[in-house]
Amino acid sequence: MRCSIATEMENPPPYLKELESCELCEWRCGVNRLAGELGVCRMTIPLVASCQLHPAPPQSYTIFLAGCNFRCLGCQNNIIAHYPDQEYAVLEGFLDPQLIARESLMMIRSPMGRLIGADRIFFSGGEPTIHLPYVEEVVRRAREIDPQAKVNFDTNGFMTKESLRRVLSFATSITFDIKAYSDEVHRAVTGAPVEPVLRNAEIVAREARDRLWEFRILVIPGIVDEEEVSAICEFIASIDPSLPVCFLAFRPNFALDKYWGAPLPLMEKCVEIAAKCGLENIHWSGHPGIRRLIKEEDLAPYEQKASKIYSRKGAVRAGALAMMAGCVTHPRSCGSCFNKHACALKKYQPVRWT
Ligand code: SF4
Ligand code: SF4
Repeated sequence: MRCSIATEMENPPPYLKELESCELCEWRCGVNRLAGELGVCRMTIPLVASCQLHPAPPQSYTIFLAGCNFRCLGCQNNIIAHYPDQEYAVLEGFLDPQLIARESLMMIRSPMGRLIGADRIFFSGGEPTIHLPYVEEVVRRAREIDPQAKVNFDTNGFMTKESLRRVLSFATSITFDIKAYSDEVHRAVTGAPVEPVLRNAEIVAREARDRLWEFRILVIPGIVDEEEVSAICEFIASIDPSLPVCFLAFRPNFALDKYWGAPLPLMEKCVEIAAKCGLENIHWSGHPGIRRLIKEEDLAPYEQKASKIYSRKGAVRAGALAMMAGCVTHPRSCGSCFNKHACALKKYQPVRWT
């Protein structure tokens, strides 16, 4: 079923005006989204994919927004993150901020909301930064009803400094993904450079320590494993060893659908590495050990090609998998890629979801 929702508005509300020249994230596309022009995220107006009570900490009423400024190989929310290129996306569409604010608070206070301990509105995606003016409007409306309403912002960190300041002005808590430390691995995994992410992680860690729920590190065997995890942990520990860190066990999804999940010993090893780096507040979660469907010999020719472009082990592997999925620009850089609006990766149809 093809999603058939309105992606343009006849009379956009004033709070969306800045989408006429969008520079919300570090791609700084400058396109007029309200006139239908597309940047890297390929989103026009803010669209909600779904909303639901969510029991994962911090327990919340979660609003999943469609679209993303990254093109991560193993995206677990690929149907909504890669809308409008995913054939099977089913979205709610544009929802009035006042209505969604009211519904969120009502659901948090409902018997089920109380049962799971939900206490905040959680903006996720996709990447909520690409719809920041809409998020701000929902928060404003929610706080008109309840000035103490709590809000979590879940991000990949690739926002401008100006956008980050805005997020910090309203967020009660922040969940922040650090997908790699080395630029090569970050580009190969996400299609984007790492520098803005590390810059923003440091700003949050230094200036909003009390609101950082946790840094999240997705552990992908052979890609983001011992070497990369060690570099991320050293970076975090150099800021403050007490910063909270959660390792997430990778589950095969999207263009890494035939790849394998992070095994239990690797998750335990990551915790050990983090402790050796001096981090004091570490845990891991997820479902480890999902089996592989791909053979090393299938990967080998792509890795040989990728090794001429990337040097780090994890980047060679991720670059090879990106090539297999149809990514044509290496090192990956979706913002400057000639093919960003006809990207095969965004249309990838996985053979399994885990
Ligand atoms: S990728 Fe970022 S800067 Fe470009 S249009 Fe989307 S939100 Fe705006
Ligand atoms: S083809 Fe271009 S836009 Fe698509 S993932 Fe590769 S670098 Fe990014």
